[in-house]
Amino acid sequence: MPADRVHAPAELVAWSVEPGQVSARLDNGADLSAPLLLAADGRQSGIRKHLGIRSALWDYGQTGVVTAVEHPRAHDGVAHEIFLPDGPLALLPLSGNRSSVVWSIDRVQAQGALDMPDARLAAMLTERSAGVLGELRIAARRWVYPLNFHHADRYGAARVMLIGDAAHGIHPIAGQGLNLALRDVAVLAELLGEAATLGLDLGDIQLLRRYERLRRPDNAVMCAATDGLTRLFSNRLPLLPQIRRFGLGLVGRSSMLKSFFVAQATGLATQVGQPR
Ligand SMILES: Cc1cc2nc3c(=O)[nH]c(=O)nc-3n(C[C@H](O)[C@H](O)[C@H](O)COP(=O)(O)OP(=O)(O)OC[C@H]3O[C@@H](n4cnc5c(N)ncnc54)[C@H](O)[C@@H]3O)c2cc1C
Repeated sequence: MPADRVHAPAELVAWSVEPGQVSARLDNGADLSAPLLLAADGRQSGIRKHLGIRSALWDYGQTGVVTAVEHPRAHDGVAHEIFLPDGPLALLPLSGNRSSVVWSIDRVQAQGALDMPDARLAAMLTERSAGVLGELRIAARRWVYPLNFHHADRYGAARVMLIGDAAHGIHPIAGQGLNLALRDVAVLAELLGEAATLGLDLGDIQLLRRYERLRRPDNAVMCAATDGLTRLFSNRLPLLPQIRRFGLGLVGRSSMLKSFFVAQATGLATQVGQPR
């Protein structure tokens, strides 16, 4: 895209739908217009709220503590997810001997993890990860994110479409939020490209309906799967550890089940360009 058409950083401060176009004003003073406004403004989407679109919404009562660690053992490109009674701990490979940490715990514990010295947090993470990557050392600042779920009732309105977390926000337990957003983008790019080739109006409501028809089922499956996993793995009910072990053992032993989950997680089960 030509640099003079990129406005970043800039905040969208006002917008309105007019006949044949959407007009938008940015905080850098730019006034823009286009046939379509794509709302990629995240979970708290101001555009979604402005449209009055409601969401199925609930709170997990957990906070995601995010940081990065250095470790003596190579991760070999493997992500580790450790399911602990107080919530899952993910170690996701970065470049070199570094991994990103996403630790989902209750709000009080998260505040403790935020306040404690680096050495204490590193020791705690090493212990919780059973030393899978050796002794960890904190290598970045810490961020916290309240974890909730939402799935919008509609993916847009006349001349406006919601994509990514603006349309659906899931628990990071399976590391799938960005993947879902990218699948939205892939489908939308194809639909808009096709419409542009045919000289159609990119803000046509029929296009929004096709986008929603193509994306809602895949998003709904992943929303349900991550919600189920979160409840299964962040719960202290007595029989759950045995059920979890049985389920994971079953998946581990069955190449068919393993292939199914890999296909879902990588998006290979979702074809861009399915029949409309
Ligand atoms: C703790 C945690 C861990 C995660 N781990 C993973 C993972 O391992 N793998 C994975 O796939 N996903 C993960 N996710 C999910 C992933 O981060 C999101 O799904 C993804 O970032 C969604 O992208 P998005 O562009 O839709 O929204 P966002 O990344 O939220 O981006 C929205 C952007 O819009 C901007 N914005 C908002 N309002 C305005 C405005 N008025 N004007 C201008 N800009 C505006 C915001 O500043 C922001 O930059 C995780 C999420 C959390 C909370």
